[in-house]
Amino acid sequence: MSHQYTDEEIIRVILEQRRQRRRKMMRRRRIAALLVLSLLILGGCGAFRALHHTGDSPDKTKNAAAAKTVKIRGTVFIDAGHGGSDPGAQALNRTEKDDTLRLALAVRSALKKRGLQAEMSRTDDTSVDRAKRGEIANRKGAKLFVSLHRNKASQGQGVEIWIPSDDPKDSRLLAENIMKELKSAGITEDRGIRTGTLPDPKDDYQENKTPDMPSCLIEFGFISDETDNRLFDEKLNTYGKALAKAIDHTYQSLYET
Ligand SMILES: [Zn+2]
Repeated sequence: MSHQYTDEEIIRVILEQRRQRRRKMMRRRRIAALLVLSLLILGGCGAFRALHHTGDSPDKTKNAAAAKTVKIRGTVFIDAGHGGSDPGAQALNRTEKDDTLRLALAVRSALKKRGLQAEMSRTDDTSVDRAKRGEIANRKGAKLFVSLHRNKASQGQGVEIWIPSDDPKDSRLLAENIMKELKSAGITEDRGIRTGTLPDPKDDYQENKTPDMPSCLIEFGFISDETDNRLFDEKLNTYGKALAKAIDHTYQSLYET
């Protein structure tokens, strides 16, 4: 027996179909919205990664590459005065051998950035014979020799630089370049470039006698002077860079022009 639909029933069916279509459409819209949202989030992460990538990593890569590609131009010798059983001068709770080592290490790292390899008489608190230091420098094929010391007196401040008694031009150039850079880095006093030794201008300090290369011995401020010590601590890296710059310029003038 066939069922005759009433108008009411037909309307109900039509309305029900419309409702279903609307529900389906809503579902599709929700899915589409979710898709768009997840794409946005993923894209955002990608963009963030891209930003992060261009902002940071290439610099690091570049720096690492630059560090690797600094070409070694040559070798110089940095002598940290005293060491081990020989403390050097002592005053105001400080010891010369410690100060000279700290400065020598700062100079070495600044030289490395300039493509100059620093051979050292010592890199820790060990005893090294004074005469041997020049011999090591000769053996290593160093082209410049710089010995680091600190002065001591009941009074006095500032830096003085000692060069061989026969006043060689190249050693004087090295000392002049160093004094110039130290003055612009800031020291209490330029006490001058001096030849020979304090007791005898015709004699030479061992550090200026043995090396077969331009050399100088720096009395890097007075360990007995509070201001020199304060500057030494505050400007350790600045002094290291200043010395490296002066050594570099001298190296260029003598060997690269
Ligand atoms: Zn000394």
